[in-house]
Parts: sequence; structure tokens; C-alpha cells
Amino acid sequence: MAKQIAIVVGHEPGGGAAGERGYNLSVQSFMDSQLRAAGFDVFCYTHTLKPYGARQTAMAAAVKKAQPQNLICVELHYNDVDTALANGHQFHYNASKGLATAFAKEWQKTFPGSRARQDKGTYHTPSGDGAGFLIKSPGLAVLVEPFFHSNPTEWVFYKDKHEAVAAVYSRAITNFVKNL
Ligand SMILES: [Zn+2]
Repeated sequence: MAKQIAIVVGHEPGGGAAGERGYNLSVQSFMDSQLRAAGFDVFCYTHTLKPYGARQTAMAAAVKKAQPQNLICVELHYNDVDTALANGHQFHYNASKGLATAFAKEWQKTFPGSRARQDKGTYHTPSGDGAGFLIKSPGLAVLVEPFFHSNPTEWVFYKDKHEAVAAVYSRAITNFVKNL
């Protein structure tokens, strides 16, 4: 049976950083095609609820219903803070460090830190922002924070790279599954 992968766009409609949901809807759509072409069974999910806990409970139920053997859940984000200086990528995990490492490795390989971007690698997130998704996901879970929208250099570099960003995530999943 084809391995089951769920791709979740972070935030409810109207939520998240400026442009974040729209950007990640596009990334999700590219990942859907890329992962299907690589032979995966893909389920795309978008949140509808605003309260965080209820939103993630609904996500988990929808993924379990669509993919009883779900292997991997990814929640797509990008970062935004009130300084232009913060930069870099970070891949959050709770129980599946190996999956987050596969993402960090592929990201660094594709976008080396040559533009003053920091490689913040993986980040253990057992509580706080994003932990609800990581804990409630039926499969191995990773939450991606690939760059800072609030950093003008990063935004200029990534703003039209939806397909390339999606390809990094899709390759990370393919590599991870190959090594299971
Ligand atoms: Zn976000």
C-alpha cells in the first residue's frame, strides 16, 4: 500500500503571518503533485476552526478518517516577528526528531546559508506554540518554519519559490521514508 502523507496548511482562514496561509496553500498544492508523482498517497488538509486545540483535534480526526495508516503529517508555516533581523529556518518536532532532521538536512542542502541565513536545524517542541499539532497528529509529525517573512532579504529570496520550497519538503519525506 502506498505510504500515507498528510499536508496541513497552518492557521485558520485569516490567521497567521501576513500572506502565510496563501503562500502555504500554494506549497501544499505543489507538494501534492510532487508526492503523488513519487508514489505516495497524499491527503491535503486546511484548518477551518480558530480555537487552537479544537482546530488540531479536528485535523487529527480528518487525517485518521482519510488515512487510517497515516505515516507522516506536515504543518506548513513561515515565521514573522517584529524585527527585520531574525532569519533562518527551523523544523519543529515532538516525537520524531529523525523526520525533522531529514527536513533540516534537505533545506540546508538546497538553500545553503550563504545569504546570512542561520541554520537553526531542528527544534524540540513538546509544549507551547505548535505543540498541539505535533502531539495530536496521527503520524510522525514535523512543523516547518522555513524563513522569516519579516526579514526583507529572506522574503525577497523566497517569495516566489513556492515550488522549490515544496520540492525540498517532498524530497525530505522521500529520503526519510527510503531510510525507514
Ligand atoms: Zn504560522
